Amino acid sequence: MRAMMESALTARDRVGVQDFVLLENYTSEAAFIENLRKRFKENLIYTYIGSVLVSVNPYKDLEIYNKNHMERYRGVNFYEVSPHIYAVGDNSYRSMRTERKDQCILISGESGAGKTEASKKILQYYAVTCPASEQVQTVKDRLLQSNPVLEAFGNAKTLRNDNSSRFGKYMDIQFDFKGAPVGGHIINYLLEKSRVVHQNHGERNFHIFYQLIEGGEEDLLRRLGLERNPQQYQYLVKGNCPKVSSINDRSDWKTVRKALTVIGFNEDDVEELLNIIASVLHLGNVQYGEEDGSACITSDTQIKYLARLLGVNGTVLTEALTHKKIIAKGEELMSPLNLEQASSARDALSKAVYGRTFTWLVNKINTSLTYTDDSSKHYSVIGLLDIYGFEVFQHNSFEQFCINYCNEKLQQLFIELTLKSEQEEYEAEGITWEPVQYFNNKIICDLVEEKFKGIISILDEECLRPGDASDLTFLEKLADTVGGHPHFVTHKLADAKTRKVMGREEFRLLHYAGEVNYNVNGFLDKNNDLLFRNLKEASFKNKYENRIQTVFLMFFYVMKQLRFLRFTWCVFLSSSGRFDEVLIRHQVKYLGLMENLRVRRAGFAYRRRYEVFLQRYKSLCPDTWPNWQGKLSDGVATLVKHLGYKPEEYKLGRSKIFIRFPKTLFGTEEALET
Ligand code: ATP
Ligand code: MG
Repeated sequence: MRAMMESALTARDRVGVQDFVLLENYTSEAAFIENLRKRFKENLIYTYIGSVLVSVNPYKDLEIYNKNHMERYRGVNFYEVSPHIYAVGDNSYRSMRTERKDQCILISGESGAGKTEASKKILQYYAVTCPASEQVQTVKDRLLQSNPVLEAFGNAKTLRNDNSSRFGKYMDIQFDFKGAPVGGHIINYLLEKSRVVHQNHGERNFHIFYQLIEGGEEDLLRRLGLERNPQQYQYLVKGNCPKVSSINDRSDWKTVRKALTVIGFNEDDVEELLNIIASVLHLGNVQYGEEDGSACITSDTQIKYLARLLGVNGTVLTEALTHKKIIAKGEELMSPLNLEQASSARDALSKAVYGRTFTWLVNKINTSLTYTDDSSKHYSVIGLLDIYGFEVFQHNSFEQFCINYCNEKLQQLFIELTLKSEQEEYEAEGITWEPVQYFNNKIICDLVEEKFKGIISILDEECLRPGDASDLTFLEKLADTVGGHPHFVTHKLADAKTRKVMGREEFRLLHYAGEVNYNVNGFLDKNNDLLFRNLKEASFKNKYENRIQTVFLMFFYVMKQLRFLRFTWCVFLSSSGRFDEVLIRHQVKYLGLMENLRVRRAGFAYRRRYEVFLQRYKSLCPDTWPNWQGKLSDGVATLVKHLGYKPEEYKLGRSKIFIRFPKTLFGTEEALET
């Protein structure tokens, strides 16, 4: 046994530690990255920080997701096997079953890090390992098949990810009292509608357009008036990237068509859906000319198709695409648009049509996932939330501001809940709690969200103020109101050195994870759009404070939920398939991983239930080998004393041993496996 332990230790040199809390040099970023690197090299892409799962995208298929692997994680203690996304899935499932508490698995990381793949793997895990009746099988199929459909309509090729999710998603899986998945619900938010009309170079529109054109049957395309050539469509040529080597649009089309049927879409539903998708393409091809400064439509081919597909009158549609309604002296008048105004009205219509179709689609999926068995209304829920991690680009705008604020809040909640659960565990085990020193980022959250004087309030105020309000007046107001705040800098107020790296139209926030400069250009417009949407979404509006914008709405909903849920955080790091140290270091910093580790390490780094600990290490002490006959805690005490621990270095709780700085030996479970 001793020889086995020694070889485990050698193996550990090679594979690193499976939990960062076991790193001796836990405050060192270099040691952290070195551990990630060792593991990545051995294809061990998952590592824990306590109960947080950290993963680095391998960008190649690993043999760790088959049924045998699923079986291996079923019902097994978190620390007893190699870290894995299945362990997180299983742990949440078991907590839900035993504690009868709703769960949330929160998945964060930058674009291309592997968030969507991870949530699919969790769904597959439940589909395979949870009990199923015939009715449950239908629900499982629908849950799984909702993915290809949502991805077809909500994902696109970007420069960072060939299958990038361009919308936020929160998915609930509902389980009945037997632990079988019986329903689900999806909330979508912030679909990137602008992609419908414009794509950057090297990027594409949403997958569905190409799938339909490449895969659609001849008679279907004829009915829709479409040609089998994406280059024919203005909305598909902007990125100059019709084909992507990793994507087979034709076979994806077949998958999506089948998935729609499984979800319960009948022929009419599908027809309606495709009519709209085709209409968007026709709208993009509507060409304008100019007569006496007013826009006119030069060819009526598209109008004819549109009138038929959308079931509207062609003349009315033509007028709608070239005029706007104004009210003068109490009378409604149609005022002609110029060329530029008409094109943007056309694009606005396309975006609105697509956006609504997406919402309709999600609603249809939700109807098909609705739990119908009334005999047992009580079900528990596991939520899967896919959220962008901190984003720091060369140029950061409103979107980054929103995403980064969300992450700031998340960090606050995470620290609060981690410390709380630590405290609860110590109390339950009868161990005295010692306060932990940590950086409380409440001060930054307040700077953004405080009523009347926070950044969001000032922005809303400028959005609603008639007259000369602009992005720049917003920036000036910020300087006047929060200029003295220790986490806020504007160009005007910055010292000479900072000024050199800041634009005049920028403000800088010192986030917990690092500093980010935001350009105010477009802040008012983007916020207005969201405010407008918020007015329409009355069902949500009643629930929350009026000033909250849609973008935050979803987040507040989730934050509120998280307080009542037990949540597990999974952090994903992107890579290009090799271990790019600069890229990884950047993410470790902006995902706040070192701070998380510090908080987790503030107490006892290592803890195990007595029976597990004794079973694993009894061979290291003659008094506990081959079997300890007395009380478990006495056996553990004998063992650790024999290993040279001083009384102040460990604590014996009611059912567990806690060690402050474990020697390298502990945490070798995985090395024993390898
Ligand atoms: P976005 O924010 O852009 O939606 P994402 O975090 O959801 O990005 P994914 O789409 O899940 O990223 O992953 C991007 C790609 O990385 C996948 O298409 C796949 O090729 C690869 N990938 C992700 N996870 C894994 C994994 N566990 N094993 C192998 N490859 C993976
Ligand atoms: Mg994604």
